[in-house]
Formats: sequence, structure tokens, C-alpha cells
Amino acid sequence: MCGIIGIIGPEQSEIQGMPHWAAYEVCRSLMTLQHRGQDAAGILSFDNNSSMFLQEKDLGLVSQVFDRQKIEKLTGNMAIGHTRYATAGTDDKRDVQPIVTGIPFGLGMVHNGNILNYHSLTKELKDKFQRQMLTANDLEVIINYFGYFLLENNCGIPNKDTFRFENIRKAAARLFDTIVGGYAVLGMIAGKGLIALRDPKGIRPLIIGVRETDGGGKAYCIASETIALTCLGYNYLRDVAPGEVVFIDTSGHMQSSIVRDEKEKAPCMFEWVYFSGAESSVDNQSVYTVRLKLGERLGLKTQKAIQAGEISPDVVMSVPDTSRPAGISAAAMLGLPYREGLIKNRYIARSFIMNSQEKRDAAVELKLSPILSEISGKNIFMIDDSIVRSTTSKKIVAMLKKYGAKEVVFGVTCPPIRYPCYYGIDFPDPSTLVANDKSVDDIAKWLDVKKVIYLDEEDLRLATGHSKLCMACVNNKYPTEITEGDHFSRERKKSRNCS
Ligand code: SF4
Repeated sequence: MCGIIGIIGPEQSEIQGMPHWAAYEVCRSLMTLQHRGQDAAGILSFDNNSSMFLQEKDLGLVSQVFDRQKIEKLTGNMAIGHTRYATAGTDDKRDVQPIVTGIPFGLGMVHNGNILNYHSLTKELKDKFQRQMLTANDLEVIINYFGYFLLENNCGIPNKDTFRFENIRKAAARLFDTIVGGYAVLGMIAGKGLIALRDPKGIRPLIIGVRETDGGGKAYCIASETIALTCLGYNYLRDVAPGEVVFIDTSGHMQSSIVRDEKEKAPCMFEWVYFSGAESSVDNQSVYTVRLKLGERLGLKTQKAIQAGEISPDVVMSVPDTSRPAGISAAAMLGLPYREGLIKNRYIARSFIMNSQEKRDAAVELKLSPILSEISGKNIFMIDDSIVRSTTSKKIVAMLKKYGAKEVVFGVTCPPIRYPCYYGIDFPDPSTLVANDKSVDDIAKWLDVKKVIYLDEEDLRLATGHSKLCMACVNNKYPTEITEGDHFSRERKKSRNCS
């Protein structure tokens, strides 16, 4: 999973007195998307005056990669940015986005998601088109094919007279037919404008915002989450639809087309459960509100277990920070006090998205500190958003018991994760998933808790208001074909071991 953002404004050299305004805004927004990836960050701008792409990218947090001097070099009225959580490729600097090419014309891109048929497409690019891959990043496949499809459509990219949205639309249609996966892509065509694409199932989110500029024109911002728009004063316009391509030219004219309108959409349930910021909306549903509803539904399920005499919690807690809204609403539903039992060290990265078990183990120990007075002697109902590998959950239970909890019940605001994700969340290997070979009772024993209470698929549908969601990691029903799934998992395991 990654965070992406693209900004384009009127074709004038400066807004707000800054020739680097687009890159400046992208940098600020990337900071609000930092929770989506902490491995690396990058920004690419295009300056019409010099007709050049300008780029800065490196490993590290946004605040570590960028300073004022670096941003000031990224002049131009359009820019794209990326904050990376490696779910393909390696931790190597070579795989950091954006990726840019000057041949056969200027094209730069960022993306969020995974291309499931990356390995067969890479082979085709090498065998059929004699392309030399320069990275292990699946975005390189997208940029190669999209560029090829644009030329194939006789787009005549360098020639202003033959450049039409219709060419972009046709290239997007060819791309949608070629790549399999869950992805949201932002791209810049040199001197022409900003492109946005969302996969036909809508697995990964992409949102458009707009604002008036000082000179009376319009600037657009397209990003993974609404928080990236609102922090800059852009107004939410709409979500990019599944299977849609959007193009905004350098004079601020927006054109769009839904080129693949599939009946069954499948936005990732994990965006609401865990990944997106609580202050964001995804597919027009407030993440915070959905999390409150998930907590209410968990409260209802827990009430049944209390009434059946299976458990007797006297306090509700949550694993900070994602699960806090669910903890508060579950406590209200149960008529129990809500307390903070664990305090998060905000300077430690999210452990789930770290890409090695060693890093995750070390992070959990540093990340959460207990409040002894709230834990000691209590029957605790602890709520978390998910149990994936169980690293965090097991350590939390051990910590609660060590500091005197009498009994622990674990509540989870999604169903058991049993199957791999091929669409941009880094659990491609089912053998690492605690629920893969365990029943719910076995998971309770494994965690050393009295009971584990999970939500079910219907709870997710009701809370998100979406009758169709991707829940493949829960129910093994993948929204795309997955013939290359095993190969994808094996290659990802290899690249993680190397990185
Ligand atoms: S498999 Fe799971 S994590 Fe992956 S996109 Fe689907 S719901 Fe999201």
C-alpha cells in the first residue's frame, strides 16, 4: 500500500509567488499520507518553461527526504508524489517512485497497488519489445505499456495537433485489458497534463479535489485519500470511478471516461478497517463513521457472549490508534467504561506495514506502553482492527497479563484473514497468516485469551454501506483472475528475503 498525489494548476509560471508551488503542495499532502507508507518518498514535477521533468526521491519518511532547498528545485505547475510501502520490488533506492521515462516521450508515474501479472508482463516486455527493466517495481510495467499504447494509438505525443483525450482513453482501455491487479495510477505527460487511472474493480481508492486559484483559474488535486485534499484547501469533487481515466490538461480542462464499467466492483475493505486515515472518506464513506459502526456491531456480538455467560468484561480498551473509534462505540453499546490501557509512541512506524518480521517484533515492543492503573485487576475487552500475522496481538496480550489483567477478550473489527492479498497489502504468503490454519478457538488459545470475537462479512458490508467489497483475504473470492497468484507470492517472498 502506498500514498499517491498529483496536482495541476493553470499554465502560468507561479501561484502564490512560488514557481515550485505544485511540488510544495504535493510535499505537504504527502505528509498527511505518511501512514500509507514509510519506506520511501518521491516527487516529480514538470516545468513548462524549461520543458523538463525535475525529480527528488529517496528512502525514508517525507520529512527526511525533503527539505526546502529540494522542493524549491521542483518548479512547474504540475507534480506527482509518492510515499512508499514496498509490496513489490525491494527496499532498494532503485525501486522508489516516481518512475519517469524520456523515451519515446516524457511520461512520469506513481501508483498504489500491485500488478498480479507483473512477472509475465515483464517477460513479454523483454522478449517481445526488447525492453530492459531498470527496477523491480511493477510501476515500470505500467509505464512501459501505457507509453506503448499511447504511441500505438498514433497519439503523436510531441505534436500538439494530434494530441487528443481519445488517445488517452484508448490507451487506458488497452492498459485495463493488459494488467491484472488492484491499482490507482497518477501520471504526467510532459507538457500536456495529469492522468489518473483506477482499476476496473475499484480495489484501490483515488479521489479528486478542486479549488479556485488566486488568478481565477482552477487547480486540481487527485490523491489516495481526502485528507490529502483538505489539508491544502481543495474541495472534494468526487472519487475517480472504477475503470475510469481522467485527464486534466495544463489549462485546467478536465476530461474523463469510464472505459471499463464492470458490474461487480470490489473496493478493499481494509481501507476502512485499517489503512486509510480516520479523517478521510473512501468511496464517499467517512472512515471514522465506518469504524464507529464496526465497533457498534462488535458490541452487539459481544453482548451475546456476555448474556451467554461466556465472558464478563468490566472495561473496553482499544489498540491505538486505528481501533479507537470502534473501541469507543463498542463500549457505549455495551454500557461499559472505555479506557486507554496502551499509549502509543507516535515516533515509531506502524508495525503491520513493516516488511520484515524482525522489524515488526522490535517495533511492537517500542510502540506501545501500558497504563498500569487501568490494566491491573481488570477483565479487559481489547479491540483491534485486525489480526494478520498476530505479532502485535500476541505481544499486547502478554503485556496486559504481565501488568495484572485478570482476563482478556480480544475483539476484531474484521473477519479472520486467511488468504493472501495480491492487491497491494503485503501479506502474499498465506503461511504467515495466523488464521490460515487455525479455527477461531485455536486463535484464542494461541493468543492466550478467553475468547476472540470477530466481525463477519455482512458486518463489513453493513458498516461500509457497500454491498460489494473485496474480502478475498477473508473468503478466497478474488475479484480478478489469480492464475499467477502462487508465482506472485513466491517472487514476493524471495524479494523480501533479499531486501
Ligand atoms: S485481499 Fe483483502 S487486503 Fe487485499 S484488496 Fe482484498 S480486501 Fe483488501
